[in-house]
Amino acid sequence: MLNIVLFGPPGAGKGTQADRLKEKYDLVHISTGDVFRALDPESDLAKLAKSYSDKGDLVPDDITIKILESEVTKYPNAKGVIYDGFPRTTGQAKALDLFLAAKGTSVTMMLSLVVPEDELKTRLIGRAKDSGREDDANPIIIQNRINTYNKSTAPVADYYKGQGKLIDINGVGSIGDITKSLFDSIEITK
Ligand code: ADP
Repeated sequence: MLNIVLFGPPGAGKGTQADRLKEKYDLVHISTGDVFRALDPESDLAKLAKSYSDKGDLVPDDITIKILESEVTKYPNAKGVIYDGFPRTTGQAKALDLFLAAKGTSVTMMLSLVVPEDELKTRLIGRAKDSGREDDANPIIIQNRINTYNKSTAPVADYYKGQGKLIDINGVGSIGDITKSLFDSIEITK
């Protein structure tokens, strides 16, 4: 199985690139952010997740890991999976390793989109006009998401680096050029 962790700060372009990777390699794309937003808004789980995401905080690991595992289980015949927005803590990364090992597979590589902070803020504020996401519209919440990323999520790259699986990709430039860098890295590594 081709199991790709697509990594990067909020606004790095993970969703856009995931669509292209999915198409090219016939993968299932799982975005935990999208899964949370697709929950029935009246459900307790959706309200709980929103209470964190609206502030730019992470949803606790136990909830997020359960949601991710039940989503992956929906695709028993997948050729591979793009994990987008997961794992976001080292606890989640360890849980994913155990979960995949139990299925006789493992993370193939982490592709990490590298984008400077100023560029991220500009992109997220721009996206707010179309996304309608409350967490995109407010500069204070955007800053909190970036701080949360730096504190809790950036260490996940070191986790995969320790396994020799981290590949940094320049996330600035045209969408097509970035896609090409991702394809090239996959071809070399898979
Ligand atoms: P972005 O990458 O643009 O910040 P996402 O759509 O991936 O946005 O996630 C939106 C929100 O959903 C996050 O700010 C967080 O609150 C929650 N979330 C998504 N994935 C996770 C995760 N793996 N762990 C904890 N919280 C998550």
